Amino acid sequence: MMTELERIEKEASTCVKCKLSRARTQVVFGVGNPHARLLFIGEAPGFYEDQQGEPFVGAAGKLLDRTINDVLGLSRKDVYITNVVKCRPPNNRDPEPDEIEACHPYLQKQLELISPVIVCALGNFATRAILGKAVNISRIRGKSIEKNNYLVVPTYHPAAILRNGNLIDSFQGDFKLMKKLLLEDRKPEKVSEQPTLF
Ligand code: SF4
Repeated sequence: MMTELERIEKEASTCVKCKLSRARTQVVFGVGNPHARLLFIGEAPGFYEDQQGEPFVGAAGKLLDRTINDVLGLSRKDVYITNVVKCRPPNNRDPEPDEIEACHPYLQKQLELISPVIVCALGNFATRAILGKAVNISRIRGKSIEKNNYLVVPTYHPAAILRNGNLIDSFQGDFKLMKKLLLEDRKPEKVSEQPTLF
């Protein structure tokens, strides 16, 4: 039987709620573990994502995968990865406010159904979408912010690391913070168990 998340994904696959529907190849809803404790939000699908129907499959995605693996010891199958908007903006332009607003209910549903412990917001657009206010990622990163039932950890978008290698230490530092937070998220009855990430 179809889960609620699968039902929403099917519904989104034919979505025409904003103008991004006109130029896309396909909707890129999200990928990974539907019970993930860690959920990543990027900005929007790019060329390869639009072609393959999966978020973060280009160079930025490879960097994200590598960091998930090296710092957290996890793979993309263990976490959940999605974007603020689910369709590729033409020529990789920034998503526009009306598009972000039209797509937001899908992100809200993903958060509600997956119910992660940590939401990692990759870049300004994701952080703004999740915190509901304009932010400067370099000022706000490096800490966790409580929001609803989860902790938001804002960090740079991996594409920013590809453009400026000096940011890699901060980026990895934010992943170390997430690892610490995941290990600390222990239910009282489980404190005697060996800490595990998943
Ligand atoms: S970006 Fe979101 S709201 Fe716009 S058409 Fe795609 S799925 Fe629908």
